Amino acid sequence: HADIAMYAAKKRGRNNFQFFTHDLNRIADERLNLEAAMRVALERDEFTVHYQAKVDASRRIVGVEALARWTHAELGVIGPDRFIPVAEESGLIMPLTLAVLRRAFRDARQWNLGRAIPLMVAVNLSPLLFLGDDVVDRVCTALDDEGLPANQVELEITETVFLGDDTRAVSILAEFKARGFRLAMDDFGTGYSALSYLRRFPLDIIKIDRSLVTGLEQEEEVAMIASAAISLGKSLRKTVVAEGVENAAQFDFLRRNGCDEFQGYLLSRPLPAAQFTALLAAGGVIHF
Ligand code: C2E
Ligand code: MG
Ligand code: MG
Ligand code: MG
Repeated sequence: HADIAMYAAKKRGRNNFQFFTHDLNRIADERLNLEAAMRVALERDEFTVHYQAKVDASRRIVGVEALARWTHAELGVIGPDRFIPVAEESGLIMPLTLAVLRRAFRDARQWNLGRAIPLMVAVNLSPLLFLGDDVVDRVCTALDDEGLPANQVELEITETVFLGDDTRAVSILAEFKARGFRLAMDDFGTGYSALSYLRRFPLDIIKIDRSLVTGLEQEEEVAMIASAAISLGKSLRKTVVAEGVENAAQFDFLRRNGCDEFQGYLLSRPLPAAQFTALLAAGGVIHF
């Protein structure tokens, strides 16, 4: 945001500095306000979770991703792209994550009570959580409290987890793995790191980023990159999931090219728990 403020200040011409500091102060104020509002919301348990279906090639729901949601009484809907960074910078990411995980584990346990094949519930873990020394214990405590087995949970992480202390990240992931969780690399294809981490980390799942899916039916190069990413994942024996699937042409291409699972608005938007429950009750196969 600072660079946006700088740009805005430059566009205004003279008195750059004055405008610039003014903007910075305003941005800092907003951040503090948001942080304060988050503390209150966490105390009042006002964060909620929406659920987005993941389907297999026959469009049967096989899993669900838990996505944090926040509607503030005055500020309205605030998206995770806004509040997650604030949580990360203010130390609120651990309490927020645990609130989301507990809710998701509790809901998943209910959904799985009557199912022969359990749904996999996926949750997102900020790379910052890997800097502390208690992430494994805290996640496991939440899991035990809610009574869900670890083998019904997928932990979605991003490549940035490996940018810091990479030995440490590996050992934490190995610990999660040893406890029975499945590990997914989220937003695959957007990062900066070398592909070598695919060999060093105990990943089960690769989630192809939406940017490799959007437009693949129109641009051959996008399609080639998506197809290469799927091949890479499959040859390493990973489960490959595509995110951001918005139309049937994308779904068909991804399926023909070996993708295992699909997630996106074509299949379902993220839904409140009750609506996702209804989607399951309607047969668990999504038609489009
Ligand atoms: P993500 O984990 O890659 O989640 C997928 C995002 O893509 C979600 O946005 C979802 O609503 C959106 N999406 C799904 N299908 C489509 C589609 O077909 N088209 C388009 N245009 N978008 C689609 P959302 O819910 O706004 O979340 C954004 C990001 O915020 C997530 O990206 C994740 O990185 C982060 N996030 C959300 N909840 C949590 C959380 O509880 N903890 C952490 N650490 N991060 C979270
Ligand atoms: Mg995710
Ligand atoms: Mg994703
Ligand atoms: Mg994404």
